[in-house]
Parts: sequence; C-alpha cells; structure tokens
Amino acid sequence: MEIILDKEKCTGCGKCVESCPFGALELQNDLPKTNEECRLCGLCVKACPENALSLPEGAKKKKQRVKETRDIWVFAETRNGEIASVVYELLGKGRYLSEKLGQKLIAVLLGSGVEPQAQELLNYGADIVYVIDHPDLKEFNEKRYGAVLIDLLKTNCPHIFLAGATARGRSLIPQLAAALETGLTADCTALDVESETGLLLQTRPAFGGNIMATITCPDHRPQMATVRPHIFPKPQPLPGHKGKIIKVDIEKQLPDDLEVTSFIKTETEGPDLTEADIIIGVGRGIKGPENLKLIEKFAHLLGASIGGTRVVVDAGWLPARCQIGQTGLTVSPKLYIACGISGAIQHIVGIQSAKTIVAINKDPDAPIFNVADYGIVGDLFEVIPALMAEIKKRRGEEN
Ligand SMILES: Cc1cc2nc3c(=O)[nH]c(=O)nc-3n(C[C@H](O)[C@H](O)[C@H](O)COP(=O)(O)OP(=O)(O)OC[C@H]3O[C@@H](n4cnc5c(N)ncnc54)[C@H](O)[C@@H]3O)c2cc1C
Repeated sequence: MEIILDKEKCTGCGKCVESCPFGALELQNDLPKTNEECRLCGLCVKACPENALSLPEGAKKKKQRVKETRDIWVFAETRNGEIASVVYELLGKGRYLSEKLGQKLIAVLLGSGVEPQAQELLNYGADIVYVIDHPDLKEFNEKRYGAVLIDLLKTNCPHIFLAGATARGRSLIPQLAAALETGLTADCTALDVESETGLLLQTRPAFGGNIMATITCPDHRPQMATVRPHIFPKPQPLPGHKGKIIKVDIEKQLPDDLEVTSFIKTETEGPDLTEADIIIGVGRGIKGPENLKLIEKFAHLLGASIGGTRVVVDAGWLPARCQIGQTGLTVSPKLYIACGISGAIQHIVGIQSAKTIVAINKDPDAPIFNVADYGIVGDLFEVIPALMAEIKKRRGEEN
C-alpha cells in the first residue's frame, strides 16, 4: 500500500517531506515519492496544503477501526489470590480517564479461585469485571495468561489497556502488544487523555532520564501502558458503585509448553520502603557512611525508614534495596525528608507520590527545592541536630 498522489494538485512545495518523521518521502522531479519506511501514518496527508495526498483504502479502514475501539481496561494482577496494590492505583487513574472520555472502566481478572475478588474491583470503580477462573491459571504463567488475554482483547477491542509495571506485568504485557500489533509505553510516571482525540498521553523518563517524554500511539489500538506501583495514589472505594461481573469460559487448549510449579517469595532484610510512612532520603551531601549514625538517630526519633540516592548506593553506604528513583524504588510516604540530595530527575520520579517533601540542602539553587513543600537551606550537619533538639523539646523529652 502506498500514499496516493494527485499529480494535478501537487505543487512540489515539499511540506509533506518535512512533515514525515520517518524520512519516508523525498521529492523526485518535484513530486513526492515514498520509500519502504512509509508507515501510512497520514501526517503528510495532513501537512499537504493542496490536499494532493490521500491514504489508500486499506489504511483508511485501519484508522476507522482505531476509532471504533472503546473503554479503558485494567489488568487485575493477583498475588497468592489477592489483588495486587497497583491494580487499585490503576483503577483510580482508569476511572479518571474513563470519565474524561465518557467510556467504561473494565477490569480483567485471571486465576483459579479468584472470582470472589471481582466484587472488590467493582467497589474501586470498575464498571465491568471479566473473570476467567480456571484451574490451569492457578499459577501465573505468561504463556497461558497471554493466550487468554490476547483472545479477549481481540474480541473486545479496548481503547486503552493498563497494567502494573511489576515483574509479571513486564513479562506479560509486551507479548500482548506484539500479538495485537500495537505500541506499549513501559514504566509511565503520568497518564492523561486528550478528550477530543482520545489519545492517551503516556509520560515517562527518556534518554537516560534527562527528559520527560510524553508518548502517544495514534494509529494502533489498544493504547497500552504499564505503570510502576506507588506512582498513583490508591483511591477511596466508591460506595454504592454498581457494575457487572462477566464470567468468560476458556474454549481453547491453553499452551502447555511452559509449566510453572510454584512461586517462592524471596526474603528481604530490613523494612519495606514502599510501605513506609516516613522516609529520610540521604544523598552525597552526607559525605560518608560514618555520618549515617546521625541519620539513624534522626530516623529513630521520627520512626522513619532510610533510603537514598543512587550515588549513596553505588558508594556502598546503603544497600541496593534502599535506592529510590528511576532505577530503584518508587515510594509514597506521607513525609519524605531529603538530606543532602540535589534532586536529579532520576531521583524525583521515585518520590513524586510522597505527600510532603522536606529538603535540607546547603545550595539554595538545588533542584530538590523545586519539588519540596518545605525547604531548609543549610548544612545538614547543623540542621538535623537542631531539628532533633526542637522535636524533643516539643515532646518534652530530654536532649
Ligand atoms: C539512567 C540513570 C538512572 C539513574 N537512576 C537513579 C535512581 O534510581 N536514583 C537516584 O537517586 N539517582 C539515579 N541516577 C543518578 C542521578 O542522575 C543523580 O546523579 C543522583 O540522584 C544524585 O545523587 P545525590 O543527590 O546524592 O548527589 P549530588 O547530585 O552530588 O547532590 C548532593 C547534594 O548534596 C548537597 N550537599 C552537600 N553537602 C551538604 C551539606 N553538608 N548539607 C546539605 N546539603 C549538602 C549539595 O548541595 C548537592 O545538592 C540515575 C542516573 C542515570 C543516568
């Protein structure tokens, strides 16, 4: 299939060539000619001031199908039969997107003995829950889950499909995107939708975290995105919200070339930072591991957990499980106290769901102050002891 050119109308202005993001057009004898890079995206058609270009029939049909898709779907991942926390967070965001588009919010729940969980998904805003409850889906098996979901998505043509960027989401969702010949934006940190076009605006760090890119998928459906746990807040349940539970039978033989016998939970030492209410984040500004003693005392006083930047982890001052940020954990404490942290974007993406951020930094221009609710410009080795003394004084404790 090729772009159709009306030679009578074409003036050879070259606007179509400039508009093509794939370098798929060039002027030959003052007329545009496409090469094999052309994806029939239609940008050149829009760019032509003379309406000399048009899409071939097959491509128009594809665009028509894009318009016909409906509803926001959320993959309701389970662990040991329980709904994963990220699912509630996605339902909260999914509700917002579905209301903005005037479409339904749909959850899809797979497993064995999971049907009782479906009501919980309705309580958190789903309008419909598809339940596929089958003994062969007892353990998470990406091939079987994939086969079931691909069929369901092909039949129902969702507009948007969201999943958690968990280990399971990361192994399952790309194969769905490939089978459905659509795009997938992994590890999004923000989602919104354009009401007029229905385009999902998928924001995530790009180019090593140096920019935040907003990615769209204009020509393929569903628009697929994964989001890390704790990026979005868990919504409140919606009392009285009503919806439908639809049981789906599996009619075909599921793949049996991958057998999952069991999942064994790894034992991790120390508190789970992703569940902590108060976190003290430490950066290079603490100068060395010997100064962690001060941070530990501060943390003890506040009942806080300690996390840190990649610099601190790479230096071996804190273990890797304490790293917060793009290549570490995403945390959502009520209070995050950043001590000697500059506020690089790769760190900020891990703390953007914190309710209150307090920053202590001796550089008044440190970027951390752009995201902090309260900023203290000063030397942390003076500020922290002063804060501790004040807290103790107010509590009536001895210094
Ligand atoms: C692909 C990629 C992924 C990355 N992933 C992550 C990630 O997951 N998490 C992460 O954190 N980083 C990550 N980084 C690194 C990130 O870019 C920054 O380098 C890092 O976050 C900076 O750490 P920092 O704030 O501790 O150090 P610095 O940037 O060196 O900042 C130290 C700060 O301490 C202040 N300071 C110094 N002395 C004192 C004092 N006595 N009192 C008060 N303030 C003081 C300074 O003014 C300065 O602002 C990543 C980078 C890349 C390229």
